[in-house]
Amino acid sequence: MITAICPGSFDPVTLGHIDIIKRASKLFDRVIVAVLVNLDKKPWFTVDERIDFLRKSIKDIKNVEIAGFDGLLVEYAKQRNAAVIVRGLRAVSDFEYEFQMSLTNNKLNPNVETVFLTTSSENMYLSSSIVKQVGMLGGDISPFVPECVREEILLRIKQRSNLK
Ligand code: ADP
Repeated sequence: MITAICPGSFDPVTLGHIDIIKRASKLFDRVIVAVLVNLDKKPWFTVDERIDFLRKSIKDIKNVEIAGFDGLLVEYAKQRNAAVIVRGLRAVSDFEYEFQMSLTNNKLNPNVETVFLTTSSENMYLSSSIVKQVGMLGGDISPFVPECVREEILLRIKQRSNLK
């Protein structure tokens, strides 16, 4: 039985993330979507909100579990008995950072392999931050995120503009 971890900030989940999680769920017996608790960048959504959006978005995939995590990813992988880390690759721009992370993780724990999945062409430009930017500028974000997430982003944008 092979367990894979899909780590990330998921602030918030986009259709690009869902695509990668779905594909990982077909390749591995069990997939743990690990939501990073402490982010360098200030998140729009709390870890509980980010987890909740993920749960609602992929509730029909049976072998996927969502959890929060903090600290070293390879340590978390060891704790959860995961042999694989899955990362999505969008464009060449992702490559250098991902390559560095994967080599570092392999040095820290050679028993954990990083596997890269390339995104489908319709998602290759998608990121959580682009979606938030488009939303703030009044653009239609419905092609990029699940409906429940779209509503929450619009609500957050309203709250943020009231604070200014
Ligand atoms: P991080 O801050 O760790 O990059 P993200 O939430 O941005 O976390 O991304 C989590 C994972 O999902 C990463 O492996 C990232 O490459 C992948 N990902 C994000 N957006 C897309 C997309 N549009 N297509 C494919 N993979 C994606």
